[in-house]
Amino acid sequence: MKHLFVGNFKRKVLPITDDNYFKQQNDTNTIQYPMQQLPTPEVGRYQLDVEIDDCIVCDLCAKICPVNCIDIESIKSTEGSIGETSDGSKKLLYAAKFDIDMAKCMYCGLCTIVCPTECIVMTNQYDRTVFELKDLNYEFSDMSPEFAAEKRELLERQQAEKQAAKLAAMKAKEGGA
Ligand code: SF4
Ligand code: SF4
Repeated sequence: MKHLFVGNFKRKVLPITDDNYFKQQNDTNTIQYPMQQLPTPEVGRYQLDVEIDDCIVCDLCAKICPVNCIDIESIKSTEGSIGETSDGSKKLLYAAKFDIDMAKCMYCGLCTIVCPTECIVMTNQYDRTVFELKDLNYEFSDMSPEFAAEKRELLERQQAEKQAAKLAAMKAKEGGA
């Protein structure tokens, strides 16, 4: 009896010259996926996941991504802090958009290394079979389009007010000079 290694499994196989070779019922071929699955290594890099409540929308993951497959739209809060992450980091930005196109991802893991709150992680999920390529674009933002539009508008108004106040102050200074 010979042994064959398939992944981490050691399997007994009969040599092809054995009279009983074609009577073998088990361990004669690759595993019966998906009924059987090989264990994934702890350090494996598979599908990404983002705990959006812990994201401070710093954009570091998007900036370091070598293939630009992370697309983030941040909106600055007009009310200052909008909460804290589970590690106590202050949240000042809304994530109106946080998409990762896993069809483009090269699984380098750099985004998970730079994340200051460790909220973007590689999971052990490797089989996310889809029929449409677009379905590999994962959307992690939990903001509704209406809520994002409202926050965008508030920010634009605040910025316009600040700009107007700045111009008025400059004019007043020029008039007084
Ligand atoms: S694992 Fe690498 S390629 Fe994939 S999203 Fe992160 S930085 Fe980009
Ligand atoms: S690096 Fe982390 S905290 Fe910063 S935007 Fe990416 S996921 Fe969010």
